Amino acid sequence: MSKRLDGKTILITGASSGIGRSTAFEFARTSPQNLKLILTARRIDSLNQIAAEIVQEVGAGVRVLPVQLDVSNAQEVREFVSKLPAEFKEIDVLVNNAGLVKGVAKAPEIAEDDVEIMFKTNVTGLINMTQAILPSMLARNNGEGSGDIINIGSIAGREPYPGGSIYCATKAAVRSFTESLRKELIAKRIRVIGIDPGQVETEFSVVRFNGDKSKADAVYAGCEPLTPDDIAETIVFAAGRRENVIVADTLLFPNHQA
Ligand code: NDP
Repeated sequence: MSKRLDGKTILITGASSGIGRSTAFEFARTSPQNLKLILTARRIDSLNQIAAEIVQEVGAGVRVLPVQLDVSNAQEVREFVSKLPAEFKEIDVLVNNAGLVKGVAKAPEIAEDDVEIMFKTNVTGLINMTQAILPSMLARNNGEGSGDIINIGSIAGREPYPGGSIYCATKAAVRSFTESLRKELIAKRIRVIGIDPGQVETEFSVVRFNGDKSKADAVYAGCEPLTPDDIAETIVFAAGRRENVIVADTLLFPNHQA
């Protein structure tokens, strides 16, 4: 349990499955007495279910607000922020986790729609959320600011692979954006944190292959992937450090991943 996270308001995008879902549970378990969790994604039924499971597990000390939100829609993101209930308005930790990969194909063969959805979700979506939340973080402490922005990139942003050119490019963009923002905010009390996972077993690969579970499972042949909890623990660890410590840039992958 971490006292440092007590009373904080945490916003997680892509909380309906995988890493986002695990991160919601990990925050709740780490600080079960007094925490506010805003869980967002497009699948509101999953979010409602996760919210109920969290409260059932840790009790009503954690207040959970599930909200349907498509991060790629800037207008929707702005409205979401403006309509947050008063007790959830001051966000202390933004976890920009929503993301996806579509298809495996050589660059000339990648469908236009797939290019668009990957950039609009992984890059524009993350920027939309950051631009919507950052002003309220900056306004605190007489302009010195307060808060954490945790961006989930990928090992793919550092080590591009054939067949994944667009996804890799989106995650390289996330990494660049994260580093620029960290430097822009260096004089503020706002930490900008990049966490880049390697292979993690989630719905990610099922989405990549449009629901084809056998193709998705084949991705992990010969390598034991990380679990979403492995990433969630790292996210919560980073958010729980004392204010002057930044876990700035983390790459974590299975020990046997090539
Ligand atoms: P999941 O598919 O389980 O989770 C992805 C989440 O993103 C879902 O909750 C999904 O919710 C949400 N999402 C997708 N599009 C949107 C959108 N337009 N608006 C809001 N939410 C959206 O995969 P992971 O948990 O693995 O992925 C989480 C992050 O981790 C992603 O950024 C991914 O790129 C990154 N990552 C994953 C790796 C892996 O091997 N699994 C490796 C490296 C990085 P919904 O469909 O309900 O909107």
